Amino acid sequence: MDKLSLQPPGTNSSRTAQAPPRFQVYTQRNLDQIQQLQCLSEELRFDIRVVAQVLPFRVNQYVIDELIAWEDVPHDPIFRLVFPQREMLDPVHFSHIADLLRTKAEQSVLKSAAAEIHLELNPHPAGQTTQNVPRIGNEYLEGAQHKYRETLLFFPSQGQTCHSYCSFCFRWPQFVQNEAFRISSREVATLHEYLQSHTEVTDLLVTGGDPMVMSSARLGEYLKPLTAPAFAHLQTIRIGTKSLTFWPHRFVTDKDADDVLRLFDELVKAGKHLAVMAHFEHGREMENDLVHKAVRRIRDTGAIIRTQAPVLRNINDDPVVWAAMWQRQVQMGMIPYYMFVERDTGARRYFELPLVRAWEIYQQAIQRVSGLGRTARGPSMSANPGKVELQGVAHVRGERVFVLRFIQARNPEWVQQPFFAKYDPQATWLDQLRPAFGEEKFFFEE
Ligand SMILES: *Cc1c(COP(=O)(O)O)cnc(C)c1O
Ligand code: SF4
Repeated sequence: MDKLSLQPPGTNSSRTAQAPPRFQVYTQRNLDQIQQLQCLSEELRFDIRVVAQVLPFRVNQYVIDELIAWEDVPHDPIFRLVFPQREMLDPVHFSHIADLLRTKAEQSVLKSAAAEIHLELNPHPAGQTTQNVPRIGNEYLEGAQHKYRETLLFFPSQGQTCHSYCSFCFRWPQFVQNEAFRISSREVATLHEYLQSHTEVTDLLVTGGDPMVMSSARLGEYLKPLTAPAFAHLQTIRIGTKSLTFWPHRFVTDKDADDVLRLFDELVKAGKHLAVMAHFEHGREMENDLVHKAVRRIRDTGAIIRTQAPVLRNINDDPVVWAAMWQRQVQMGMIPYYMFVERDTGARRYFELPLVRAWEIYQQAIQRVSGLGRTARGPSMSANPGKVELQGVAHVRGERVFVLRFIQARNPEWVQQPFFAKYDPQATWLDQLRPAFGEEKFFFEE
């Protein structure tokens, strides 16, 4: 089918348009208005509607018109990246919600059924709400995590949404409108106070949602004061974003796009290393003039773009896809940084891969690229004790073992010490691994 002919009346294609089009955003509430969906089978549409009751769903017209290859749906990787899929829910959960929809249950009934399912999806992996929240005196600094000595992770309250949602995202609880699940911060001042008194922090990592949904003025309120001498210890500011995929207009045609770039410029001129941590799951996300323009404009400010993504079954579980993506990124002047393992939360059942498979994909992808593409580390699990990388499979004294290391750890002394787990072809996460060589515990559990 021709994707241009499928555009809803009255919308513009950004392919040719220079002015920023006010693209429509769709959620589970106005799902039926997505014209392209009308061409899909009724069954597929129903599946989407069921899963969207439970898992967050949001997609904009740009992704629909420019990124998804509708002729390849339902196999298209970008479609699977943003649209809910039946297999993302446990079959029992799926039929429960499906029955409620078929019998036209009240919204409140649907909502509480969804809320019950949420609790079974491990909404807070790796101790996010309990163990990592920093304190000023006896007060908690809401909307922040200080897990690794050098780096403060910060979630500005106005950056708690994204231009579209990724179906794999471990931040899904923040998007399902249950206040109790949210991590966010209202306080610019407390962030600055905390940073000022914690001179061990060299890196601020601003994350979300997607902080680039904020206006440049708002972003500036958080970031500009950090150029003052009191924050000289803060060398690096990272902004985690998927806007290069979901809304490259942010850096090109949005009405404050130039202000965003000026802010970046100012931070760089003040001596900060500014890193845009861009998420790309697939090379397809980078094949668009607007993305190239956005990358060019960001790089012109002196900011560095580093890239990261999880390895996901059904989307990018192929070394060829990763190698092509890394090569393209290097060519465009971006630096591959992390390959993550899909976290143990949310729709993991659809995305997760055995660790050994993730490692094979990493190894085979790395083998295909030059040294400039080999800056990506992984596959890495962001687990409770730290970021653990599976380095490979080895035979030691007749035993087949996984070789692991901490890339990052709660206790800095754990970093870069090789350790060993029993080979397990099915294991998908750190907590399923057992120490090798008959040991009782891993060294970091003592
Ligand atoms: C990944 C992560 C960081 C950043 O770690 P780097 O190794 O510096 O990239 C910081 N805080 C948290 C909680 C993280 O998960
Ligand atoms: S853009 Fe980032 S935070 Fe938002 S849904 Fe995707 S991965 Fe999650």
